[in-house]
Amino acid sequence: MPPGLSTRAIHHGESFAKETGTVMPPIFPSATFRHGNQEGFDYTRSGNPNFRLLESVLSSLENSEFSTVFASGVSAITAIISSLKAGDLVLCEDNLYGCTVRLFEKVFRNFGLRISWVDFTNQNNFNLIKEQTPSIIWLESPTNPLLKILDIKAICEVANSCNVPVVVDNTFATPFVQRPLDLGATLSLTSTTKYINGHSDALGGVVCTNDPEWNQRMIFAQKGLGLHPSPFDCWLITRGVKTLPLRLERQIKNATAIADQLALHPLVNWVRYPFRQDHPQHDIALKQMECGGAIITASIKASQSKTFLMCKNLKYFTMAESLGGVESLVCHPATMTHASVDESTKQRLGINESLVRFSVGCEDLVDLSADLNNALELVQ
Ligand SMILES: *Cc1c(COP(=O)(O)O)cnc(C)c1O
Repeated sequence: MPPGLSTRAIHHGESFAKETGTVMPPIFPSATFRHGNQEGFDYTRSGNPNFRLLESVLSSLENSEFSTVFASGVSAITAIISSLKAGDLVLCEDNLYGCTVRLFEKVFRNFGLRISWVDFTNQNNFNLIKEQTPSIIWLESPTNPLLKILDIKAICEVANSCNVPVVVDNTFATPFVQRPLDLGATLSLTSTTKYINGHSDALGGVVCTNDPEWNQRMIFAQKGLGLHPSPFDCWLITRGVKTLPLRLERQIKNATAIADQLALHPLVNWVRYPFRQDHPQHDIALKQMECGGAIITASIKASQSKTFLMCKNLKYFTMAESLGGVESLVCHPATMTHASVDESTKQRLGINESLVRFSVGCEDLVDLSADLNNALELVQ
């Protein structure tokens, strides 16, 4: 039997310093390597022992043959999107991470890429894949911040029948919860800044694939576009990922309880959590995710100023961008992560003044729970 996910997260094999017996791999800050070395290293922009260690552990977790690490999640997105050419169509789920939307609309549209947005929770829209023959399909599930769940397998079946590659941004789920390549995706992308590293002290991104051609494109993008990470950040992320399953187990336990607590609170309009029965795509979540993750989105019965006050009143949920660290965070997507998305799109999607997103951390549940009740009470 192959080793389990926790074992694979901890034991990545190679250390590139075998003769020392070191348990933790060293950091290789060297910018360049002697020509003709045994491992084939050349110049750090195109590869480094710390990149390779992280790539091997992430490949193992995502069940992928290949992975390429980048300086950030946005660098990983850039690597994929810049492999396309002017005139190509990108068919996107209409609720993507704000910086993905900004990169596509404000940068790559200027280079002649065509971008169209659809609601992939509506199965009728799967027909658009056949009608529009896009060059690539861009998905996120759960989506940021609305936690929509897309049927990755069903979408990939249609796309694969037309030879259209599908990218899934797996940042919110992580391979602990869902493995997009197993569901038929061509590319699985993750901002390793979030859960994979888990300690909010390094930025990184990765693209995993089983397709040798896409792998070559990613290797090219890493060196050709200068999207490589730093060896030190890779080392930190390789260290962080060891506790991914352990952290997520606690975070998911906390999030499940907090979602239920919020749903019962009189000041809360509604709560979105993939494994709650009232989630609109609960059935799909149960089918493709092993658990509900640790992000909760809620609509507060309050104006923007009061919603802000609630966020600021929290003691253990720091109001900040980002997610997935051991510490709890709260964010107001309309003015923070999705500030760059235009107003009409935000209104159409429901990213409004009373929407808040919680990234539930590893603290003691009683403390998080009391903190939330207290902050909500103060705005009543
Ligand atoms: C944060 C995030 C990114 C971007 O990652 P960075 O590491 O911040 O560049 C991409 N996708 C999703 C879903 C994210 O949450």
